Amino acid sequence: MSQSIHIIGSGFSSLAASCYLAKAGYNVTIFEKNNTIGGRARQLKRDGFTFDIGPTWYWMPDVFERFFSDFNKSPNDYYSLEKLNPAYSVYFGQDDFILIEDSLQKICNAFEREEEGSSVQLMKFINEAKSNYDIAIKDLVYNPGVSPFELVTPKTIGKLNQFFSTIKKDVRKQFKNNRLAQILEFPVLFLGAKPSDTPSFYSFMNYADFGLGTFHPKNGMYEVILGIETLAKSLGVIIKTESPIEQILVDHKNEVTGVKSNNLEYPCDYVLSGADYHHTETLLDKKHRQYSESYWQSKTFAPSSLLFYVGFDKKLKNVNHHTLFFDVDFDTHAENIYDNPEWPENPLFYASFPSITDQSSAPEHKEAGIFLIPLAPGLTDTSEIREEYFEKIMTRFEALTSQKVKNDILFKESFCVNDFVKDYNSYKGNAYGMANTLFQTAFLRPKLKSKKVKKMYFTGQLTVPGPGVPPALISGKLVSELIIKDIVTNKTKNSTLQPV
Ligand SMILES: Cc1cc2nc3c(=O)[nH]c(=O)nc-3n(C[C@H](O)[C@H](O)[C@H](O)COP(=O)(O)OP(=O)(O)OC[C@H]3O[C@@H](n4cnc5c(N)ncnc54)[C@H](O)[C@@H]3O)c2cc1C
Repeated sequence: MSQSIHIIGSGFSSLAASCYLAKAGYNVTIFEKNNTIGGRARQLKRDGFTFDIGPTWYWMPDVFERFFSDFNKSPNDYYSLEKLNPAYSVYFGQDDFILIEDSLQKICNAFEREEEGSSVQLMKFINEAKSNYDIAIKDLVYNPGVSPFELVTPKTIGKLNQFFSTIKKDVRKQFKNNRLAQILEFPVLFLGAKPSDTPSFYSFMNYADFGLGTFHPKNGMYEVILGIETLAKSLGVIIKTESPIEQILVDHKNEVTGVKSNNLEYPCDYVLSGADYHHTETLLDKKHRQYSESYWQSKTFAPSSLLFYVGFDKKLKNVNHHTLFFDVDFDTHAENIYDNPEWPENPLFYASFPSITDQSSAPEHKEAGIFLIPLAPGLTDTSEIREEYFEKIMTRFEALTSQKVKNDILFKESFCVNDFVKDYNSYKGNAYGMANTLFQTAFLRPKLKSKKVKKMYFTGQLTVPGPGVPPALISGKLVSELIIKDIVTNKTKNSTLQPV
């Protein structure tokens, strides 16, 4: 038997896992279906412009530091970070926006300008959010989701009420001003569910936002992927692109024996998949799948998205590196994502202009723009609908920011539900995996370790701990710890795997 671990996919979780497993002395090969690595965090280059296709917000810098420090490295060894100021701005109407700057004091001042006295409430809210962050992100999320007892600690027992209230309820109780409330409800959207379905304990995302700030890696988020790739290769990981896995091979003892890619069989001792969980199970015979179609259908998935990558022939005015457009009713759009899936009539949208901060992302005197509309997964996606929505948001963008831009578009590329399915084998074209609701947290999420197939493991945004780049790094660490433990336990059996 060969002495190897084959990893499916090259997203953040797979790359992170590959580093831990290679460091432990195993032979690790990554099989990526696409022609570049990075998964949802790939990069698009066109006519001198560079766009991050997926993630653009670098939050929770401590998680990245902790990842690299496990290899006696730091993010600085691979990329340089800039703290953004302002972190972002939020539009509520024409020329009417609130700036979120780079320190809590400045954010308190912005709150005061909006509503006198609100900064006192904000400090109280953020202190609680910080205490939740210290419990959740420094400790709880580093548990593998095996047992409910992982969540039961003296600290969490003291906060039990926060698991049975929601962010929306908590925020609305404390902030009567709708604009401020909307800003405070925004960070949990990264977890993939509505603020009214997200436990208030998850206010740790507000501390990540206001307390820690928003960063930009020079040359974009893809630089982080390249950094981890460099680390992985230095540890001996082999990366094969254009290598879609077509089947996971399992023997009569229900143990993995290898994978099949481009019609060739690659034997191995362990298989770890960072591809979407639902898709990975379809690579196994039916009897080896743990979760039924009705299981997946019953789950709350994080949104899909309609994205546009636009090259503008001039510098734009009145926008920031990250700009949110909350000028329409949030609840109606959220209903169209979660309760009654359909294309929203008046969508909220997000725009990023990395070239405001980073000259490498656009030629001189030009602007790179990324526009994102969150959508229900599984919606009908046609080029006509994409066009209609591009026109819709460009018209609103021009009006809200008081400038003409439509005639300055050099090119645009789009990415939507069908591309998520085609490029990533994503379930219903979800963008961020499975949402983190109360009943889809920790031990209640799809498991890192297969219950049906020996030596088969999973990582990434559909399993533990959840969606987002920092959780993907953590997921890679958690699953490698389980695999290493398993190898150590099994080493006297058939496997010749030996940690060095
Ligand atoms: C538009 C968008 C914006 C986002 N914004 C942010 C943000 O600002 N900040 C943030 O922290 N997070 C953000 N996220 C979420 C974050 O990008 C993801 O949670 C994270 O990158 C997921 O990593 P992963 O390893 O779980 O999966 P993926 O990145 O999806 O990796 C899975 C890989 O498996 C490959 N694969 C699939 N099937 C096969 C197969 N059969 N054989 C071989 N390979 C296969 C895929 O091609 C892919 O490379 C965003 C995501 C999207 C889509």
